Amino acid sequence: MNINYTAEELAFRDEVRAFLDDKLPADIAEKVKGLRKLSKEDHQRWQKILSAQGWYATHWPAEHGGVEWSAVQKHIWDEESCRYGVPRTIPFGVNMVAPVIIKFGNEQQKQQYLPRILSGEDWWCQGYSEPGAGSDLASLKTRAVRDGDHYIVNGQKTWTTLGQHADMIFCLVRTNTEVKAQEGISFLLIDMNTPGITVRPIITLDGEHEVNEVFFEDVKVPLANLVGEEDKGWTYAKYLLTYERTGLAGIGLSKAALGHLKSLASRRLKHGRPLIEDTGFSQRIAQVEIDLMAAAISNLRIIASVEGGGVPGAESSMLKVRGTEIRQTINDLARRAIGPYAIPFIEEELALDFDGDYLSDEYAAPLSAHYFNNRKLSIFGGSNEIQKNIVSKMILGL
Ligand SMILES: Cc1cc2nc3c(=O)[nH]c(=O)nc-3n(C[C@H](O)[C@H](O)[C@H](O)COP(=O)(O)OP(=O)(O)OC[C@H]3O[C@@H](n4cnc5c(N)ncnc54)[C@H](O)[C@@H]3O)c2cc1C
Repeated sequence: MNINYTAEELAFRDEVRAFLDDKLPADIAEKVKGLRKLSKEDHQRWQKILSAQGWYATHWPAEHGGVEWSAVQKHIWDEESCRYGVPRTIPFGVNMVAPVIIKFGNEQQKQQYLPRILSGEDWWCQGYSEPGAGSDLASLKTRAVRDGDHYIVNGQKTWTTLGQHADMIFCLVRTNTEVKAQEGISFLLIDMNTPGITVRPIITLDGEHEVNEVFFEDVKVPLANLVGEEDKGWTYAKYLLTYERTGLAGIGLSKAALGHLKSLASRRLKHGRPLIEDTGFSQRIAQVEIDLMAAAISNLRIIASVEGGGVPGAESSMLKVRGTEIRQTINDLARRAIGPYAIPFIEEELALDFDGDYLSDEYAAPLSAHYFNNRKLSIFGGSNEIQKNIVSKMILGL
């Protein structure tokens, strides 16, 4: 395995850097690097810039407007964009439902939805989880019953990320109760403006409105919105999850977060000396940096194997567990660095235009909220316990 970049790959990295130097809006990068909240408008503004460059749809074939980057190019983009403070791509449209529509949708669905995802006209959300169906997703109960040229949908989805902004939701619904759980599920595309849909916020530990409950009461959905075949939705749902898990390790994000941690530990004083010079604290930083380097090498190993024609298997589960543990450890150290100032929750300080007196320092304001928000990393995209089950079966043979 050769983990050095080729001359072409280095040239690509220069191209990425030149693009980001030129086109990434400074106010957006400032928010990302300062761990501040991004608005829907921030995301849409950046998406338009990426689309104009032809770099938005990294998982799509060129014929639909995608950019066919190699695994190494995607890795370079990930590293550089995290370093520069590029907002994370909201994945539900471009990286989740679009690959399903491209592979299993009909021509009419491709023509109707793909251009609107590319242009940012439609904001999508994901309707998989339900109150009784998370890790055990196949036990989902939201019902879709045929009625002429429509389905009538009743039920509830939960944890629907950014559903309050969404124009469309892709949903797993039960269309058959007579067969094995996995064999009676269908994949429906539903307009969020259809009568009978109610979105209710769930406010998380960090005081944020990021997730929602979505209720369906006699919602009429045209049969034309069924993807592929009725009752075959489980196959499409699993295909989508392979895309969801790609990149969950967040190596680039951890590298950026580690740089941020070191910088704040250099500014923070303990007994009159920078915290980073404290033996105990610097050892903790060193340990997480070693873990991150090991995970980064494993990531490169998987990338090299994909470049050589391999398929990422249970290694991506291993990487998801390690990568998310590392991110959470870095968040935890940043929170510890500000000590008791991590305790009070002062919502106004989280706004970029706050012009009052910070309780501690400006950089300290969002650290607790960020720590709490990122507890989600080990839960979504398949919880870490579930990933460990996969590793124990597929890699350790237990
Ligand atoms: C912030 C956030 C955003 C999310 N966004 C979305 C979204 O946009 N759309 C969507 O559809 N879903 C979303 N989810 C839901 C997410 O996919 C589920 O939370 C996840 O699948 C876990 O399901 P659950 O919460 O029902 O927990 P459960 O499945 O009930 O699990 C509870 C605990 O038991 C453990 N456990 C369960 N089964 C096993 C097992 N077999 N072996 C060992 N341990 C086990 C789990 O690891 C967990 O610790 C989101 C979740 C969060 C936290």
